[in-house]
Amino acid sequence: MTTVLEALKAAEQRLQEVPDPRLDAEWLLSEVLGVSRLEMLLNKRRELTEAEAAAYEALLVRREGREPLQYILGSQSFMGFSLKTDSRALIPRNDTEALCEEALKYVRPGGRVLDLCTGSGALAAAIKKLRPGAEVWAADISEAALSLAKENAERLGAEVKFVRGDLFSAVDGEKFHVIVSNPPYIPESLRGRLQAEVEREPALALFAGDDGLDFYRRIVQEAPAHLLPGGRLCLEIGDGQGDAVKALLHEEFADIQILNDLNGLPRVVSAAVKEEKRL
Ligand code: GLN
Repeated sequence: MTTVLEALKAAEQRLQEVPDPRLDAEWLLSEVLGVSRLEMLLNKRRELTEAEAAAYEALLVRREGREPLQYILGSQSFMGFSLKTDSRALIPRNDTEALCEEALKYVRPGGRVLDLCTGSGALAAAIKKLRPGAEVWAADISEAALSLAKENAERLGAEVKFVRGDLFSAVDGEKFHVIVSNPPYIPESLRGRLQAEVEREPALALFAGDDGLDFYRRIVQEAPAHLLPGGRLCLEIGDGQGDAVKALLHEEFADIQILNDLNGLPRVVSAAVKEEKRL
């Protein structure tokens, strides 16, 4: 018979390749036992049943294969909400909370909000929960992502209008006060060289041409036609992309700001559409 403590030690050894072996070993075992990590750690001498040991083994095999922890656990917290996660969409990142916070500043009651490239639906659902008076739309090209996003909106009890299409083609003729987007932004050259777990996420959600800026070019060009007067565009950016995205925005946008995430890294570009540009 194996105790919780022994099982954790053995698992930690097996998971040496993953970034945080001990923590992952704990999360996975607490999932199997159906208790919080704290509760589990307070009962370290408890023995695992055969069924529990077998279930733990199955999860460890998946994690050893570098399946992301959040795909195995099936959920991830975003803005304090528990979202369902699986291979249909990118896992919501804590970094993206900075983007959510920025967008929320501009969402008024009755305001129209679009989450472009919604993926798991994290941004759209969180914005609707935190600004219930707003009308929130969410678009994605991926049918699989949209099905997960819908499940997440339902899970949170957030009323979001979901539409499918390639970027703005999903919202033909619609205008919004706020457009928020965490589009793909990783340069194609990094494909196959990312952290093993990231490579298990949908490539469609990650890669964006040679310089990683393909989606920003299209979004910046097409967004003005979908923004109401004074409307705001809030974008997540990757490592070192701030100046390039700022330059793209220069023509049609004013009040361009670059904001940091919780790690102090530039993560968000936010800008207001120029009034004089509208016809
Ligand atoms: N932030 C993600 C990563 O670094 C990428 C997300 C994206 O391309 N939008 O893995």
